[in-house]
Amino acid sequence: MTETAPPYVGRFAPSPTGPLHFGSLVAALGSYCAARAVGGRWHLRIDDLDTPRLVPGAVEQILRQLEAFGFDWDGSIYFQSDHGSRYEAALEGLRRCGAAYTCSCTRKEITAHAERGVLGPIYPGTCRDGMIEPEREPAWRLQLPAGSLQVHDLVHGDYRLHAALELGDPMLRRRDGVWGYHLATTIDDAALGVTDVVRGSDLLPATLIQSALQTALGLPSSRWAHLPLARTRAGEKLSKQTGAEALDSDRPLPALLEAWRLLGQAEPPDAPASIAEFHAWARAHWSLARAPADGDPFADGLPHIA
Ligand code: GLU
Repeated sequence: MTETAPPYVGRFAPSPTGPLHFGSLVAALGSYCAARAVGGRWHLRIDDLDTPRLVPGAVEQILRQLEAFGFDWDGSIYFQSDHGSRYEAALEGLRRCGAAYTCSCTRKEITAHAERGVLGPIYPGTCRDGMIEPEREPAWRLQLPAGSLQVHDLVHGDYRLHAALELGDPMLRRRDGVWGYHLATTIDDAALGVTDVVRGSDLLPATLIQSALQTALGLPSSRWAHLPLARTRAGEKLSKQTGAEALDSDRPLPALLEAWRLLGQAEPPDAPASIAEFHAWARAHWSLARAPADGDPFADGLPHIA
């Protein structure tokens, strides 16, 4: 019997911490075109687990913006906050196989001593052999394998970092009960049958952790592609923290074309007259091979990832 490759499934996963900005548009457009160009599915996931950072009304605003920019998604919207029982079961599995451990360290204690890595402070493994403060409410961490972790990225090629020296054991569940991003995204990508994770290159190091989680949980490996980042004039990653403005839903075409160019794609010979015309051109001409690898996407550090 010959095995057939699973059909392409992509996704876009904004956090409702504010409206979409130009940087989000680049990630949305790249993942959308990559999926639609091969007749694949494209899911919309709302990353609404980090409750203290959620902004009321942001989900509705994001949906209106996606519609105004001509994006349509398959199936119903997947809200991470609906799937706590999936994360609980995964944590239980990791506990049983000895890949998760409890940690009593506070963020303050960690930042006071830890080196800074591309994903934030590198947890030095203080509680690996038992909690330092056993009476505290524990967090849960993933014990990363020893040595280097490596993934193959379709834009950046082979990418590797040393687990203990450059990443540190990531949080699975915080002390306040909030599920960690890496565990949730890994479980959700598997639940939605995502075959291809296409997103901004600031998340390339996160891929090493998510790939390690896929292995630990016995989940299928994703293909990964990390796209160039939109930057401010000063060269910083465009983000809510660097003052990115909300996408203007009244003028979608110029921003779509600018995002298309940033993704290194071929210029349409005539300016598209409508959103529908733009998307038809984009679907027919998308080429991941044209997307440039970012120079040093981590030069400015990264926004905090739980
Ligand atoms: N919600 C994450 C973010 O907005 C994206 C996660 C992902 O694409 O895996 O940065």
